[in-house]
Amino acid sequence: MSAELLIKNGRVIDPANGVDKQCDVLIADGKIAAIGKIDKSTQSTIDATGKLVTPGLIDIHVHFREPGDEEEETISSGSAAAVAGGFTSVVCMPNTKPPIENETDVEYVHRKARKARKTHIYTMGAITKGLEGVELAEMGFMAEAGAVGFTDDGRGVQDPAVMLRALKYSSMFNVFIAQHCQDDRIAGNGVMNSGYYSAILGLPGIDPLAEQAMLWRDIQLVKKICSGTGFQPVKTRPRWPCHIRYHAQHISIEGSVELIRAAKKDSIPITCEVTPHHLLLTEENCAEYDTNYKVNPPLRTSKDIEALKQAIAEGLIDALVSDHAPHLQSEKELEFLTAPFGIASLECSLALFIKALIEPGVIDWPRLIEMMTARPARIIGVDKGTLSAGKQADITIIDPDAEYEIDVNKFHSKSRNCPYHGWKVKGKVEKTIVGGEIRYSCGN
Ligand SMILES: [Zn+2]
Ligand SMILES: [Zn+2]
Repeated sequence: MSAELLIKNGRVIDPANGVDKQCDVLIADGKIAAIGKIDKSTQSTIDATGKLVTPGLIDIHVHFREPGDEEEETISSGSAAAVAGGFTSVVCMPNTKPPIENETDVEYVHRKARKARKTHIYTMGAITKGLEGVELAEMGFMAEAGAVGFTDDGRGVQDPAVMLRALKYSSMFNVFIAQHCQDDRIAGNGVMNSGYYSAILGLPGIDPLAEQAMLWRDIQLVKKICSGTGFQPVKTRPRWPCHIRYHAQHISIEGSVELIRAAKKDSIPITCEVTPHHLLLTEENCAEYDTNYKVNPPLRTSKDIEALKQAIAEGLIDALVSDHAPHLQSEKELEFLTAPFGIASLECSLALFIKALIEPGVIDWPRLIEMMTARPARIIGVDKGTLSAGKQADITIIDPDAEYEIDVNKFHSKSRNCPYHGWKVKGKVEKTIVGGEIRYSCGN
């Protein structure tokens, strides 16, 4: 007899199929067997009354620090954090030590992921060798080994000629190029947003223009390549007219929203993502020199937050990501100028997005789930993010009404650099099911 699991009576939200109704989900042999009213006795049943049953959440931007900084996070500890956060798939950034820049490195991540046996782990590869921004890495071999895309995340590709080559080259393998949009010459040695607070705190600032300038430049590059491949703006478009796929990582300012809005209107093949910290925190949080608020791109202003929320309401933002960036306490205890950038938030990002977007009514549940399942799946080009019959049974069960306090000491992640400790939030992951197996259960 085949292994069956029945999830009874939940609110099933499957945005890719336009489903939002109270019903049951039957899993058999690790796959979705049926959705609807199912009267059947199975080996195991989960009562999901009052809960949300959604496709397994997908986070396309996490840092698991292996190889190189295993004391901060490993693929194994990061995977445990992922399923505790409701994520059945995550995408690791390649800025490890050494970076993921060839076929063997990609295979290394996959091998470690199989061993961890928690969540599905994908990796991106470096755009340039050593993340130095000069010479292209072995993108073709990495794509063949299963890298889902390329980025030098941690910094942007500064040289436009290198970026142009990377975009053209990536289109041959139908993988996406993601950019940490920041012009180093404008950003200089900044450690927080440049403005009133950086001035009174006496800290070097990162001008928002550093992000805007690089995003603008990249859009011109994408446009240029598309125009050489029969790209027709708007009216006569076939959608995605060329194979280039460009993704702007963690956009944080109003200026970027405007650029994305205009680019999407012109059918430029661009997608983008937003983090919880750029929706919930501002530069003012740095006022006490607490390095848990030091992040790159830096925390901006409430005006930027409003612009990002407006963009989300309009459907301009494709994915919600944590940019989970674990760091050692000893490093974060350094002074603000020298401490590393980053926030570890994989385990609480769902609750944070609920706080930022559902509670104030910016969007509803199906829209939120879509930006955490189907749309990110499309960006990385994997057949996931839906509850269609026959698909692998990756499912997250969420209690939308459960209230709790975020406690970093309960994190499965190895790191605690999280400014949300003690925050009261609503919305808890009850169960995370990966390939039909329950890999996380709340309270266990
Ligand atoms: Zn980044
Ligand atoms: Zn990152």
